[in-house]
Parts: sequence; C-alpha cells; structure tokens
Amino acid sequence: MSRHATPPMSTRLLRSYVGGEWRTATDEGTPLHDAATGEEIARISSTGIDMRAALEYGRRVGGPALRELTFHQRAALLKALASHLREHRDELYALSTRTGATRSDTMVDVDGGIGVLFSYSSKGRRELPNDTVYLDGAVEPLSKGGTFVGRHIGTPLRGVSVQINAFNFPVWGPLEKFAPAFLAGVPSLVKPASQTAYLTEKLVELMLSSGLLPEGSLQLVCGSAGDLLDHVTEQDLVSFTGSAATARKLRARPAVVRNAVRFNAEADSLNCSILGPDATPGTAEFDLFVKQLVTEMTVKAGQKCTAIRRAFVPAELIDAVQEAACERLGRVTVGNPANEDVRMGALASLEQREEVRRSLKALSDAGRVVFGDPDHVDVVDADAERGAFLSPVLLRADDPERAEPHEVEAFGPVSTLLPYTSTEQVVELAARGQGSLVGSVVTGDADFGRDVVLGAAPWHGRMLVLDADDAKESTGHGSPLPMLVHGGPGRAGGGEELGGIRAVLHHLQRTAVQASPKVLTAVGNSWVPGAPRSEGVHPFRKSLAELRIGDSVVAGPRTVTDADVAHFAEFTGDTFYAHTDPKAAEANPLFGGIVAHGYLVVSFAAGLFVSPEPGPVLANYGLENLRFLTPVKPGDELTVTLTCKQITPRENADYGEVRWDADVTNAAGESVAKYDVLTLVAKETAQ
Ligand code: NAP
Repeated sequence: MSRHATPPMSTRLLRSYVGGEWRTATDEGTPLHDAATGEEIARISSTGIDMRAALEYGRRVGGPALRELTFHQRAALLKALASHLREHRDELYALSTRTGATRSDTMVDVDGGIGVLFSYSSKGRRELPNDTVYLDGAVEPLSKGGTFVGRHIGTPLRGVSVQINAFNFPVWGPLEKFAPAFLAGVPSLVKPASQTAYLTEKLVELMLSSGLLPEGSLQLVCGSAGDLLDHVTEQDLVSFTGSAATARKLRARPAVVRNAVRFNAEADSLNCSILGPDATPGTAEFDLFVKQLVTEMTVKAGQKCTAIRRAFVPAELIDAVQEAACERLGRVTVGNPANEDVRMGALASLEQREEVRRSLKALSDAGRVVFGDPDHVDVVDADAERGAFLSPVLLRADDPERAEPHEVEAFGPVSTLLPYTSTEQVVELAARGQGSLVGSVVTGDADFGRDVVLGAAPWHGRMLVLDADDAKESTGHGSPLPMLVHGGPGRAGGGEELGGIRAVLHHLQRTAVQASPKVLTAVGNSWVPGAPRSEGVHPFRKSLAELRIGDSVVAGPRTVTDADVAHFAEFTGDTFYAHTDPKAAEANPLFGGIVAHGYLVVSFAAGLFVSPEPGPVLANYGLENLRFLTPVKPGDELTVTLTCKQITPRENADYGEVRWDADVTNAAGESVAKYDVLTLVAKETAQ
C-alpha cells in the first residue's frame, strides 16, 4: 500500500481516499476501458484498504466535525461546494465522454448532481433549524396538568453513511446520496461502481480540493467493497443503488441483519408509460408520448433506472404508435459521444452490451423487434465493435399477459410496446412490474389520469401525468428531482432516496422525549408551553445577541366594543353577518350573537404587544398555525402573552428569524386565539 499527500497523476491505478489520505493499491488492478474507443483508461483495485479502519475514521473524525456544525452551516457548505464543482465542471465533462455519455447525457449527470447540492442547501436553510437538533412534529400533551409532555426529536446517527453506487450516474449518483447525509451531519463513504469509478474519483478529488469539507466527512473506496459490510454497526447506514440481485445479497449480509442497519435500496425497475385512449394521432398527447418514449430509450443510451421499459398503448392505437416511434428512432444517430451530431453514445462497457443482448434474447421470446438490430448498428465517427455501441431496440409484444416484458430489465436503449383494452387492465399490467420507480400517463383526460394514478400509485414511487398543459415545463418521466421522492416499492428496492428533507431524516434517529416543559424546552432549544417565561425588558428591544428563549411580554387587557366591531367591518369591508347583523348572528349556532372578527382579535393583539419605536425587530413576515378557539364578543377583555419560542440566526445576514408563541386570552383565562408570529430581528442592536 503506498500513500501520497498529493496523488501522482501519472498513475493509472485509481486511488481511494480513506483515513485522511489518498491511497493506491499495490497490485495491478483490473483494467477499465473507454466506452466508445475501447482504450484502457485506468485500472482499479481496493486491495489492501482497511475497510474497518475507514469506517472507524469516519465515525471518529468525520462525525464529530460535522456535528459541531448546525444544519444551516452544513447547508452553506453544500452551496459553496456546488459553486466550486460548477467552476470545475469542464474537468468532469471531459472525463464523462469516456463513459459513453454525450454532452447532453453529461449535463444530466454532472449539472443534475450539482443541482442536487444546491437544492439541499436551500432546503436545509428554509426547512431545518439553525441548530443541531431536528424537531419532528408538534409537542404532544401527555397529562391533564400540562407538566408532562412529549415530542419527537431527530439527532444524527453516530456512524457512517456507506454509499454504494451504480455505474450509470458516476456524478449525480454519489452527490444525490452525499448531500442529505452531509446535511444531516453524517459522514459519507462513497463506493462507486467499478466500471465508471474514474469519473467519481475525479469528482471526489474536486470535492476534497475545495477545502470546504470537514476532515473525515467524505471518503472514497475505488474497487471492490471487500469486507466493508462486515463492519457496519447499528449507527451506520447503507445506501445502495444497483441491481435488485445485488441489493438482495447485500441486505442479507450478517452484520446488516444482526445490527438492523438501515438499508436504503434503489434497484432496477420496469417502469411504464401509459398512453390514454383520448390521445389519438394528431393530438398533442400522442406526440408527447412518442417523443418521451424515444427520449427515455436514448438518453444515457437507456442506462437509466427510470427509463421507460414498458409502453402501454390502447390496442387500437398500437400500430400508429409503432409507426411514429420507429420514424423518430430512425432519426437517432449513434456514435462517438464527443461528436456533436451524435444523439446517442455508447453503453458503459462491452460487458454491459453483452448483458443487454442477453436480456433482449429473453424479451424476444414474448415480442418481436420492430425497430433496431441488437447485433448491428451504424455508428458515426467511431468503431462499432471496439466501442460498446448498440442500436435502440423497440419490441412489440401483442400479448401483454406474457411474463417477460414485466420481469426482464434490459438496461440499455430498449423498450417494449404492449396493448391494453381497459383502464382496469392497464392498471393491473402496470402493477405486474412488482414495484417501480416511476410511471407516466400521457393523456388529456383528467379522469383517466386520476384513475390510473390512484390505481397504480401503490406500485410506484413517482407518477407523472403529462399533457399539453404541463409538457412545456415538465421535467419529464426519467428525471428524479431532489425535492420529490426517488425510490419505489418492491422490485425497485423499497427505498426513498430523495424527497426533500425526508432524505435527511433517514440519517437521523427519531427519539420520543417525554419530560416536563422546562426540560423539553432545553432539549429542543424551542419554548414549550408550560416552561418558564421571563418578563422584564420588552423582548422587541432585544437583539438576537440578547434575546433568550422564554423571554416574553404580557400586554392588555383591552376591551372589545360594539363600535370596534362595526368600525372594523366598515373599514375592511368584511361585513359578514356575524359581525354586523344582530338578528342573523343570533341565529348562528356557533356564535349566538355578534362576534368580533378573528382578524380584529389578531390586530388588537399586535397593537398590545408591539414596541413601536425603531429597534432590533425589523419586520413581521407572517403568522403560522393560527387558530381562533373561542368567540370574542363585544365587552370581552383581551390579554396577549407573547413568548420567544425559537431563534434562527441566518448564516449570511446580520439578522435572523424569531418565532414567537402568541396566546390571546379573555377575562376568564380561556385562549381565544393561538398562533406563531414570525419576525426578522437584527443580530446586534444598532449603535
Ligand atoms: P450492480 O452490479 O448491482 O452494482 C451496483 C453496485 O454494487 C456497484 O457499486 C458494485 O460494485 C456494488 N457491488 C456489487 N457487488 C457487491 C458486493 N458483494 N459488495 C458490495 N458492493 C457490491 O449494478 P450496476 O450494474 O452497477 O447498475 C445497474 C443496475 O442498477 C440496473 O439494474 C439499474 O436498474 C440499477 N439502477 C438503479 C437506480 C435507482 O436509482 N434505482 C439507479 C441506477 C441504476 P462493483 O461495480 O465494483 O462491482
């Protein structure tokens, strides 16, 4: 095993980054080839890497360094990292061509991956606290007297997120797993698929050279995973993308089973696209269906876990769809991915092409090839045999009940047309995939769209309904988005890799904490009703530096009069009868007489608690969770208690957000309105 402070670029053996160092195996490794030219570009081996030590290093060094940061600080680093990678993306683009990817394929992988970092950065800042503990849901009252309450909190697992990736997205794949782990405060150990690991190695090199990442928060193992999964503990998690067969094998590893290690799998899936009966030739939806089918077959040469493998069309439209799809496929140029005239590049390797040809053989037992020749393709600017080129292949299976199209995934530019005769039948056929990442319905008929979505949703992680209205802005069938769930039930692995903050929560342990309001306030850094409050200097006179959770002001009472209600009605135009017509209001079963407007109550409360002179409070930017609980009648006295509930300093501004608990009560002490007031407050008081 040799060690290098800076990796020598002359070596063609890929390096791993573990234990804070770049390391290179001493054996010769296995060759990796350029997908389009067949040229050997690197060798790969992980021989000699101590997997147990790598995991320990992540736990011992990476975890503590990440947990020192708040969610917002980690989010800011993700943003800076995304910008750094964007500046260097040409280096990734150059290498991506060698995987067989065209420029637009690379955009999906590289720019898509960078986009995931940006997305998690902004979600982290908007949806997570600037804190190290996540509060999950509301406080649960557990006792009559209010001295015993409960709440769920999320804290980062103390282990490592082991991320095993598939070969097809060597940049997007690792980034999509890294972003939520990092935001959660859990270090990552990335293991790319060997075939395209040279691109992931470059990615990790760029990420590390940014100098942004806390030591130990990112490690890389190039080559076989060896005994890595024998050393995972109950605090580690495994995030896997690849074939269902490998997922099954890894999930059953003794240490994974013994320690109930969280195992998220994104596996292969026989995604479907369904054409609605309304979408006859000449309609926008007919064209959209055909276009999308061909796009999904050819982007990344069909090596996408989300590609359309089964295209269901109404039986009476199958000839027309076949004709239109073949016409479009005929225009696809295959060849050197670096050539700008080429629409579809190569598969990732010659082995991959053989694998697809084997699957095609199995599929052709159930259907006939209506476009393409699995054994021959004309290529532009390349050698068809040295490169892993394959023609797009469209099959047609006239008997949709045959098993093969629903079971065999040809992980390449391959799709099968299948006829259906009723909505019920097509929903049943969609489910024959036994769980898919994505399904799409292309229809201008909202009722058909609804019936298919509601019928097929239990078998799908994501469903797209495409029509003339959304087509222009639609991101398409095959694109997982960081804010939406990516994953699917059953055969698709049963995981939910993405889905906004949900993906961050996979890395946190949810714990129900039962305690007094005082202790729960201290644990969650958020004021819980019943916890001590502190009155004194008006809290609106305090900057973020001075303000403390629990600081409060009690203001009032103010009596609501008939004249107030009448004036408010006339002034605002809200002359709803319950505020203006005594007789009608009398008959209202809930009020039994004139009541004050809810918004009048909220406005009076603001008038009571405000501290009007200029000061650290800069703005009120909203209310949340507003509930009117008891009707307020003329003559009632209102008192408001405003308590500082949560303080969220902004990382890159001289102010932050303060959430206040507002409780408006009447003379009997009953709450008439409760809500959270949201304000922006300066970090320091202006001198
Ligand atoms: P694969 O052969 O299952 O390999 C996936 C990953 O698992 C690779 O990193 C591989 O490493 C690793 N691996 C294999 N055996 C292992 C073991 N015993 N211990 C630890 N790691 C092991 O899949 P692939 O050929 O790379 O990818 C193609 C498949 O992935 C397709 O079926 C596709 O549908 C699916 N896929 C799914 C998604 C999704 O998001 N759901 C995305 C992309 C692809 P080596 O390469 O070093 O063997």
